[in-house]
This record gives sequence, C-alpha cells and structure tokens, in this order.
Amino acid sequence: MRSSQYLLSTLKETPSDAEIVSHQLMLRAGMIRKVAAGLYTWTPTGLRVLRKVENVVREEMEAINALEILMPMVQPADLWQESGRWDDYGPELLRIKDRNQRDFLLGPTHEEIISQLVRKEVSSYKQLPLTLFQIQTKFRDEIRPRFGVMRAREFMMKDAYSFHLTDESLQKTYDDMYKAYSRIFERLGLDYRPVIADTGSIGGSHSHEFHVLASSGEDAIAFSDSSDYAANVEMAEALAPAGERPAATQKMEKHQVHGDELAAVLQPLSVESQQAVKSVIVKASDDIEAEYIQLVLRADHELNTVKAEKLEQVAAPLEILTQTEKATDIEAPYIGVVKAKLPLLVDRSAAHLADFACGANEDGHWLTGVNWERDTPDYTVVDIRNVVAGDPSPCGQGKVKIARGIEVGHIFQLGTKYSDAMKVGVLSETGKHETLTMGCYGIGVSRIVAAAIEQNNDERGICWPDALAPFQVVIVPMNMHKSARVQAAAEKLYEDLKAQGIDVLFDDRKERPGVMFTDMELIGIPHQVVVGERNLDENQVEYQSRKGGEKQKVSLDDCVNFIK
Ligand code: ATP
Ligand code: MG
Ligand code: MG
Ligand code: MG
Repeated sequence: MRSSQYLLSTLKETPSDAEIVSHQLMLRAGMIRKVAAGLYTWTPTGLRVLRKVENVVREEMEAINALEILMPMVQPADLWQESGRWDDYGPELLRIKDRNQRDFLLGPTHEEIISQLVRKEVSSYKQLPLTLFQIQTKFRDEIRPRFGVMRAREFMMKDAYSFHLTDESLQKTYDDMYKAYSRIFERLGLDYRPVIADTGSIGGSHSHEFHVLASSGEDAIAFSDSSDYAANVEMAEALAPAGERPAATQKMEKHQVHGDELAAVLQPLSVESQQAVKSVIVKASDDIEAEYIQLVLRADHELNTVKAEKLEQVAAPLEILTQTEKATDIEAPYIGVVKAKLPLLVDRSAAHLADFACGANEDGHWLTGVNWERDTPDYTVVDIRNVVAGDPSPCGQGKVKIARGIEVGHIFQLGTKYSDAMKVGVLSETGKHETLTMGCYGIGVSRIVAAAIEQNNDERGICWPDALAPFQVVIVPMNMHKSARVQAAAEKLYEDLKAQGIDVLFDDRKERPGVMFTDMELIGIPHQVVVGERNLDENQVEYQSRKGGEKQKVSLDDCVNFIK
C-alpha cells in the first residue's frame, strides 16, 4: 500500500473526550471515527486490525471443528417470545417495528436464532455434537457507552453455540473452547487470565471469562500467585464454603455510600465553581492501590475561555496531587483533570464511580451525588485498599493478587435453558426424543483491538504486536521527491517485500521525514526501514523496531530476508 493512495487521517491532539489511552490512540491513529454514541466507523487502518483479530479467531474456531455461519442481525420477536427473553431482557434490547407493525429487535446475542436453525436442521443423534459460530455485528443499547469501541452499542462479536446429547459431550467441547480461547489470546500477544465467572441461575462453575489485564479494566479479578486459580471478585466470594468468606474478600469491604456523603465532600467545590464549571465527574483512580480519585471538570460550552487558574480555584479545597491542563474549545468541553485526595473510598471500578456526578442544572442549582442514569443517590463502593499480597488466596494456595481486567471472552454451559423452551431435540440411538444440552461462547472481537492497545502503547503511540499490526513494515524514504536514487531503491524494496507476501506500507507522501516518523510511530507499525542517500552510498538501509532498541544498518540486498 502506498500512503499517497491511502487514507491516513492521523490527529496531533488528544481528543479531550477520550478518557482511556486506547480510545485516544484509536482516534489519533485514525482507526475509528465516531458516528453517534457507541457507534463507530472503522477506517481502513482500523479495519485491517479488526480483520487480523477476526482471522485468528476464525482459524482457532475451525481448528476445533466449529463451522462458520452468518445469522441476521435483525431478529423477529416471536422467537424471543418463545424463549421468554422478549419480556425478560431489559432496556439493552433495541426493539423495532417493520412497516406492518410487526415486532423485531436488533440482536444482542443469537441463542434464539441458532436454536431455531438447529431444531429444523438437526434431527438425529448422528449429527451431534455440533458447534456453529459466526463473526458478526451485535447491538446492545448500553446504558453508558464509553471508552470508544471498548463499550460500544454496535460491536463485533464472535459467538459460537454447541449442541449435545450428553453433559460429557458438552464438557468436552467446553474444554476445547477453553483451550482455543487461550491459543487465540496467546497468538494475539495479550497478557490475559481465564477466570471463574458467574453462571447466574444455572449455577456451578461452568463458566469462564477471559480477561486482558489492564488498569483501565472495568472488572476486578482475584487470582493466586502460585496456582491457576482466578475468579472475578464476586465469584471468589460466592464460591467459598458457606460462612467462610475468603480472607482476601473479607477485607474487600462493601459500603453503601449515600449521595449525601459525596455531596458533603464536594460541597466546597460547588460553591466555587458554579460560575465556571458545569459539572464535576468523580472517577476512581486508574491505579488500584492509589488513594486518590480524579475529578473531571467540565465547562459549559460557552465558557470556552475558562483557563487553568479557574480550575485550580475550583479544586482548591482539595489536596491536589497532579493536574493536567487541557485545551478548551467548543468541541472540547472538558477544562481539565485534577487528581486529588478525597476522604472517600476508592471504587473497584473507575466506570462505576463515574456514575457519580454533580453539576449545575439549568436554573443554576447545584446537584450533587446523584447517579443520574440510575436515578438513585445510593451507591455500593467496594474498597479493596486493605487487600494486600500477604493475604492467602481464596483457593488456599499461595497469596491473592487483585488486578483490573477487561472482559474479552466468555464461555458458558447453558444446559437446556433454550432447548427446553424452544424444543430443540433429536431422536436418540434408541429412538427416543431427547432434548439437547447447549453451550455458548463469545469473544469481543472489536473490544480486543482496544484491549490490545491498552497493553501495547508508549508516549509516541501504539506498539502493535506483530499478529495485530495493520502493516508489518513501513518504508520511509528520505526526501524521495528530490532523489531519484532513493526513489528507485525504495520502490524496489517495496515490490520485493510485496512479492514475499509481507504487508508493507510505502510512505511516498511529499512530507518531511519528521512528519512521516511521527505518523508511523503513532500508528504503531512494528518494523520500519529508512531509505536515505547517505546509507545508499554503502548500499545500506536503516532498520528500526517500533518496540525500541538500536537502529541497525542492513544491506539493501539482505533487507527482505532480514524482515522475513
Ligand atoms: P460486559 O460485562 O463487558 O458488559 P457482557 O458480559 O455483557 O460484557 P457477553 O454477553 O459475555 O458480554 O458477550 C461476549 C463478549 O462480547 C464479552 O466478553 C465482551 O468481550 C464483548 N462485549 C460485550 N459487550 C460489549 C460492548 N458493549 N462493546 C464491545 N464489546 C462487548
Ligand atoms: Mg454487558
Ligand atoms: Mg460481563
Ligand atoms: Mg460476559
């Protein structure tokens, strides 16, 4: 690919409404563009990465004999009435009507559609076990879409469903899936942990979530430092024998914090800030052990001239630790982020505390501590500051560690929940009608792209693991438009790399070298080859890895082999 024929669209500034690094970098690297809350367009660069994830997922599904299908995103209500979920599913389900006033929905998941398919297509035990999967768009009307594609409303999921005559057969496929998921996250170069997860009404420990470890993660997981034990914190408690709460979670105190408590803390702020600041959003710090929270001060749109002094004034009653100044303009209503010490508990989830906000309403009345969306002033805060490595793991082996995770996958033994309701069965060997038992297995394909960036970035931008990079190599020619020799060498290298099937970007734009380097480092292409006059005198080019390390001179003739 030549940059001159490509759509690069990188941004210099960090968009002020993007709170976590992956969202910031996906916007800056020109991977996604927002259409509306939780809805994104994937640009050529973003889509290249998304496809890499998809392909790894597809290969590993096929390796365990799962068969790919594609189901419609729009689903008829009657199937959901059969399963009972038309009434049970909350407001995350987007319901729509067609021109004949018939009810439909945008699929948040596909158990009903797959059950309908299998009850029609599969009639004999000889056709079992059967695992089907798709990679497709889901829609969930999330209460708070945030962090870009991390929690979107429309997002890409791989969902697989398996059908069995016996629990043993289901367990085998479940184990295969568990291993396939582990291979997927290993191949993608992610630091991940499978954890025991909640099975809701079905019970047992027949569900695992796969978490990518990252400080921005919305979930907390507890794991042992010397065994394979890992569970999300709710399960670490739920699985303990009755009356024996694990020592670690005993210390994880839960408090109901009333809105008034928060209001009292924030009261001094509100008096100072009514003029300048429209709202204050309280967030827990990213660092799980730290005792500060962040305040995001948001100015009214018209108050675009509010400067850092005002911010300081507003936050003056608090013990300020650090403060970042942010540009203010009409597009960017946030005037700054302050890290401050507050006499408040640190929540286990930044996202949850963000629900707490206070601000001035239209009449200038200051509202505090109201969880706006849920419309309740009460809030459960889980304090994990007292949990220290010293504490025994809930499994009894080794010490407990607590980390934040991003849920990127979830596998689940459903049993006969759907097959009972929707009459999915076959004739068994003895000619009896048997209801099938089911498993379902999801991977957040688009969320993985963001999660990978959370783990692979530096101050210059994204550092893609090879398996995910939009391009493997970039050729950066120095002043090519003035040097026929540089141009000829770069063109030849480009053709040679392409001939080897290597994904290569040729930065043939009429830009200064500095601009090219900045863009390519931001996008995070793992390998860079610089073609310049001086090195060509010795028939050499310069190689640099995005992950750092020394620049190396490589002979032009060996370059393709060196990269391979
Ligand atoms: P979460 O707890 O984050 O809301 P979930 O448990 O509701 O996720 P599942 O029903 O288990 O999600 O769906 C399978 C996978 O789809 C999740 O593990 C996650 O990776 C991904 N996913 C779920 N919701 C979203 C979303 N709003 N945006 C992006 N990916 C999502
Ligand atoms: Mg969810
Ligand atoms: Mg979940
Ligand atoms: Mg889940």
